[in-house]
Amino acid sequence: MNNDQNSFRDRIVTMNEEGRRNWVYANQPNGRYYTARTIVAWILLLFLFAAPHIKVAGEQLLLFNILQRKFVLFGVVFWPQDFHLFVIGLITIIISIVTFTVVYGRVWCGWACPQTIFMEMVFRRIEYWIEGSGDQQRIRAKGEDTFDKLWRSLLKHFIFIVISWAITHTMMAYIVGADKVHEYIVSSPSDNLSVFIAIMVFTGAFYFVFAYFREQVCSLVCPYGRLQGALLDNNTLMVTYDYKRGEGRAPMRKGEDRIAAGKGDCVNCNKCVSVCPTGIDIRNGIQLECINCTACMDACDSTMRRYNLPEGLIRITSQNNIQNGSSFKWTPRIIAYTALTTALIGVLVVLFTLRSSYETTILRVQGSLYQKIEEDTYSNIYNYKIINKTEHEGNLRIELVSPKGTVELAGSSLLIKKQEKLQGAFLIKLDKEVLEGTSTPLVLGIYNGDELIETIHTTFVGP
Ligand code: SF4
Ligand code: SF4
Repeated sequence: MNNDQNSFRDRIVTMNEEGRRNWVYANQPNGRYYTARTIVAWILLLFLFAAPHIKVAGEQLLLFNILQRKFVLFGVVFWPQDFHLFVIGLITIIISIVTFTVVYGRVWCGWACPQTIFMEMVFRRIEYWIEGSGDQQRIRAKGEDTFDKLWRSLLKHFIFIVISWAITHTMMAYIVGADKVHEYIVSSPSDNLSVFIAIMVFTGAFYFVFAYFREQVCSLVCPYGRLQGALLDNNTLMVTYDYKRGEGRAPMRKGEDRIAAGKGDCVNCNKCVSVCPTGIDIRNGIQLECINCTACMDACDSTMRRYNLPEGLIRITSQNNIQNGSSFKWTPRIIAYTALTTALIGVLVVLFTLRSSYETTILRVQGSLYQKIEEDTYSNIYNYKIINKTEHEGNLRIELVSPKGTVELAGSSLLIKKQEKLQGAFLIKLDKEVLEGTSTPLVLGIYNGDELIETIHTTFVGP
């Protein structure tokens, strides 16, 4: 390609030369990929809206309560003490997405990203329903202002606001919990004015994104989208136009031998462009705006079928496959990312397996020394904090494993409710003969019934 042909790379396609927005009136695709995407989208949407209302052992299925530092994943509660698991889990997810992107391109963007799913499967479908196809929308937008245009626009924006409001409440349910959100809904806005204002602000933000900002999120704002230039290479599988087969593009003429006429399979029907939600022409090559939604594949396949040409002129393949016919290769980059992802998943599995059901901290009271109780007996005072991470009440006790001595609890028992913490103090008494100078190592056992659940090492200060 010469520089002129490459000029489309100088600015994003949704911006004209004066810097104004070129509105994308994408037509609705129709084909097997769109059907598959619809199924995937509805499953994910169902999960997104249902998850905060599903309870597992009394806990919300997913909760990310940053304010109270309480995180629940599939009913398992993570305490601030488990934060390292959360961080490793997050890093693993990010590295997995990077690995996946290196091999499969932006599948996430086109098929699973909430922005695309809401935009293409919810908001744009409502637009098709009320205002017709992309072409009809363009004609109506450029036409005169009529009552027909007005009521359609009002109805569409009203529904957009209602859905934005529903999205805001669902997002809130993931943060503060579905029960709390229900409380907010049934109470008066004046009872929770700051929450009410936050709901209005976020509803407005979602409405703005889906009604106006749209594909600009993917092209200009999303950091993952901006990373594509660094992640993709010629071996990455992406939605790609087979220029070797397609060029020179020209309309189909009846009875013409296209090969003899030096023409390719692209009949220049422009359907691939008309369905593209980011407004690009995939025949120009790989572009940053392409979210790999596969809409152009459906559009082109329908044209190929119409003219009895083989499907797949636009298909998921790599640049190397188009250029040299070479198939998928394990490059050092793919091997490195895959190894890193596997290692992180391994670490996560081990840490999850070793995650204790109780977490105990025992510390000698700060600044305290030993106390002489009798002629040959000394005591130290300790603070304890125990977190019960299980779904059952625990009846615990602290015992001295070594050396021999006695533990005297300040309260009567260590009864600890599920998912709660208990703290208090206790004394340890040791005979003079077991002391090893000023600091004697201690081993304490925390028992739940007969089961030893944790072993704690600390020291005893002596004379
Ligand atoms: S070029 Fe094709 S795959 Fe890429 S965003 Fe446009 S329609 Fe989707
Ligand atoms: S849909 Fe296929 S045939 Fe039509 S212009 Fe696009 S690439 Fe060419």
